[in-house]
Amino acid sequence: MHPTRIGPYLIDRKIGAGGMGTVYVGKHEDTEKVAAVKVLPASLAREDGFILRFNREIEALQRLNHLNIVKFFESGSDETETYFYAMEYVEGETLTGRLRRDRRIPWQEVIQIAVQICAGLKHAHDVGVIHRDLKPSNLLIARDGTVKITDFGVAQVFAAQQLTITGAIIGTAEFMSPEQVEGRRADRRSDLYSLGIVIYTMLVGQPPFANGTPPEIMQKQRFGRFDPPRSYVPEIPSWLNDIVCQLLEKSPEKRLPDAYVLSRRLQQV
Ligand code: ADP
Repeated sequence: MHPTRIGPYLIDRKIGAGGMGTVYVGKHEDTEKVAAVKVLPASLAREDGFILRFNREIEALQRLNHLNIVKFFESGSDETETYFYAMEYVEGETLTGRLRRDRRIPWQEVIQIAVQICAGLKHAHDVGVIHRDLKPSNLLIARDGTVKITDFGVAQVFAAQQLTITGAIIGTAEFMSPEQVEGRRADRRSDLYSLGIVIYTMLVGQPPFANGTPPEIMQKQRFGRFDPPRSYVPEIPSWLNDIVCQLLEKSPEKRLPDAYVLSRRLQQV
């Protein structure tokens, strides 16, 4: 059973459930605008500091306005203390879904996808918003091929809980930068590391650090060595292989400096 309404949205159906809530499609009762409405787990709303973090992140989301970022509409809580936020509904699939079907993606298409992610990230970074949890399930691919990043800053809202929601940490450890594993502040280069893992995963069909428990994978993010993409897929050009390896540098200073430079490098050939 799903709710028939959430805030001003009349709910049509459930479209997904992740570690951080349940997502429905609904229509705004006045404007009839279709939206994806994400409802956060009730246990969370009762946590200390949650509302503060939630509101702070919402403020950040409102600053984002870009073709390659899922548009944020509004947030609120209804009578039952249900916290929700409504966003653009993207008809299509997640990158996770695509990879489940095709396992890996030809490098030429990987570049087209990565360049779009770079464009969205550049915009966010320019207005001071770091994603912190970039991974295939947060990348939606619309029917026309447009890639849209979702869940900006959501990891932060869940920061206090993250270690207790097993689902969330399992989904995340594989894409988490070494500095985040160490509990240090994430910056734009942390997003670039995660993007490096996403690109690697699209090229190879699995992330560089895939086997083991979440703590083991986190340890590998800090100290582990990985096999370069070309050792699995020889067709990958060496310049692309090198870019991916540079994004996966443990030390943020050794990575490419920002999403714009990365995008230029990906398109230079
Ligand atoms: P996760 O916690 O795994 O990142 P989410 O809770 O964010 O998952 O989303 C669950 C599912 O809901 C996604 O895998 C996706 O299929 C769907 N979804 C999320 N946001 C949207 C959206 N804006 N438009 C369409 N589908 C969405």
